[in-house]
Amino acid sequence: MMDINQRKRIFLSSPHMSGNEQKYINEAFTTNWIAPLGPNVDAFERELAAYIGSKDAAAVSSGTAAIHLALRLLDIQKEDKVFCSSLTFVASANPILYMGAEPVFIDSEPETWNMSPQALERALADAVKEGEIPKAVIVVHLYGQSANMDEILSICNQYEVPVIEDAAESLGSTYKGKASGTFGRFGVYSFNGNKIITTSGGGMLVSDDTEALAKARFLATQARDLAPHYQHSTEGYNYRMSNILAGVGRAQLEVLEDRVRARRLIFQRYCQELASIPGIQFMPELENTSSNRWLTALTINEKISGFSVCSLLKSLAEENIEARPVWKPLHMQPLFEGKSYYSHNEFENVSEQLFHSGICLPSASNMTEEDQARVIECIKKFYATYEIPSFF
Ligand SMILES: *Cc1c(COP(=O)(O)O)cnc(C)c1O
Repeated sequence: MMDINQRKRIFLSSPHMSGNEQKYINEAFTTNWIAPLGPNVDAFERELAAYIGSKDAAAVSSGTAAIHLALRLLDIQKEDKVFCSSLTFVASANPILYMGAEPVFIDSEPETWNMSPQALERALADAVKEGEIPKAVIVVHLYGQSANMDEILSICNQYEVPVIEDAAESLGSTYKGKASGTFGRFGVYSFNGNKIITTSGGGMLVSDDTEALAKARFLATQARDLAPHYQHSTEGYNYRMSNILAGVGRAQLEVLEDRVRARRLIFQRYCQELASIPGIQFMPELENTSSNRWLTALTINEKISGFSVCSLLKSLAEENIEARPVWKPLHMQPLFEGKSYYSHNEFENVSEQLFHSGICLPSASNMTEEDQARVIECIKKFYATYEIPSFF
């Protein structure tokens, strides 16, 4: 039976419509562009490319599809090595498996929680020794924080390895004044329901290489050759974005900056209210970068705070508040058992530490101040009443 006293659920990251979506959807209906192509798709691509400052963008059915296409465009072959951040959602690496390629996972650094340039350098040096230079490096920008791109690019350029940026979580973030996702050969955004803006489901592949993106559109529509009959000479996919959903995306893009402001404000409030709890540390923001703060993430040092992430998650769940541990590193996933992994250094395994001590708090841009106060109250109450274990 439902508990009628149960308080309203607070979600981790819920969709936040602007109200303008309906206008573009109606346009699609009145003009009967109900297809995975049409004026909304073209306009959404143009508008997003202009916003982030890239030459071109291809709208597709998901962020995962965009990563898959990027790997196809880089001509990844079976058993080729592809390096990938370990601390991320499985979608960053699943497309490596679609290609039959071999993932090699790279640890995080403490400064950004993202790919450790040190570990990357070691992994590349080993790859050179073994004569197996990776065909691509997939760099993830976690929870909106950009990776250390200058260092990563300089290492990759030295070995002439192309970079794919998984910017699924960092649309609206900047690194040294330039949009996150525009530094590599390809950038990938996601418009899944939980992302900073959404089309319910969708993604975008961006690049300055307009020829490559033309090929991406070709591959994403079953690779149909130019012929009056149906002719195909290479394997394709059905990956294009619906013209209806692109309409949702156009309206969402108009309010992206509001959404970033709202999420950053939520982060600030958590900081102000929770920083005094001993052992809590918020995810850092690298100098000269601006994170969209998609999710407020923090770590809890159990030895100092006296409580674990697990127990706090349980207490929040009892109050009908959705919080989550940080991503479980991919090198720890059964799916990738036996795959190579390079830790930050000999002594530090940063992604594993973050996994064991990290938590993401509700951060939806449409969460009310009262909702957030409820989350903060719950954490403070939990801290005040938690039995500090006796070590004696
Ligand atoms: C959401 C997400 C994806 C996948 O995007 P979809 O649109 O859901 O396919 C990829 N990588 C990261 C880091 C994500 O958070």
